[in-house]
Amino acid sequence: MRIGAVEAGGTKIVCGIGNEEGEILERISFPTVKPEETVRQIIAYFQDKQVEAIGVGSFGPINIDVNSLQYGYVTTTPKPGWSNYPFLPELKKALHVPFGWDTDVNAAALGEATWGAAKGLESCLYYTIGTGVGVGVYTEGKLVHGLIHPEGGHILTRRHPEDTYGGFCPYHGDCLEGMTAGPAIEGRWGIKGSELDVDHKAWEFTAFYIGQAVAGAILMLSPQKVILGGGVMHQEQLFPLIREQVRRNLNGYVSSPALAEHIDTYIVAPGLGDNAGLAGSLALGLRALG
Ligand code: ADP
Ligand code: ZN
Repeated sequence: MRIGAVEAGGTKIVCGIGNEEGEILERISFPTVKPEETVRQIIAYFQDKQVEAIGVGSFGPINIDVNSLQYGYVTTTPKPGWSNYPFLPELKKALHVPFGWDTDVNAAALGEATWGAAKGLESCLYYTIGTGVGVGVYTEGKLVHGLIHPEGGHILTRRHPEDTYGGFCPYHGDCLEGMTAGPAIEGRWGIKGSELDVDHKAWEFTAFYIGQAVAGAILMLSPQKVILGGGVMHQEQLFPLIREQVRRNLNGYVSSPALAEHIDTYIVAPGLGDNAGLAGSLALGLRALG
């Protein structure tokens, strides 16, 4: 079986072909530019690929309400040209196969639940901490949509007492994304996160905020696994710091061996590594086949 996958990020698009085992057979990548040109490139890639379905995990916010006239649109993004753009409808006009469509992070959560770190579980959360912060929510075997879709990257957290940085989120200033995404780290310290030492204060601050957010999400959703991906999480020293913050914030209240004894295997990196996004879109495509 050949299934198409599109990981549509704000900076780059990855298109690939995979199978029902979650194996990626081939892929290409190109920068995300104006929507018409980007769509043209995606269509050109799949035109002669003979896929049975295509899954698209997209940057957002997006409309994922199948009953809406704007289903498949990118909605209120500040990205030039993309606001209110009929992304999925334009792809469907040219490529006549079933389409799966969801947020990039929901796709990644589904991919991890199908083949990755949460394989066999009924629930997981997938965080990306990269250019922005996003959260995909998979629970009771389904991706959460609700009102729009979860936007857990923008929740508010308590400030670190030594942190004077104002945050960079244009909507909320010091929300989780405003304080922990790659641009926040660079904005606060004047140097890219990838160039900071592993014992730099930056990682204590970053873990302080992510730990709060994850603790809150555990209280709210009771996920069986929490997966932390994205460029910033390439800093592996963050994992023990975040686990410690989660423990501190929960303070023994959530009584589960997952937290008390096995937190190292409860809060983890993506099992699919940097393939989480594309494999997730592949899983969306598979689901679209039914
Ligand atoms: P995107 O979120 O655009 O899909 P990434 O998940 O790769 O892409 O995130 C990119 C962001 O992550 C950038 O802001 C970059 O500075 C930051 N980043 C990438 N690698 C590292 C690293 N090793 N350490 C810290 N930050 C990193
Ligand atoms: Zn925000």
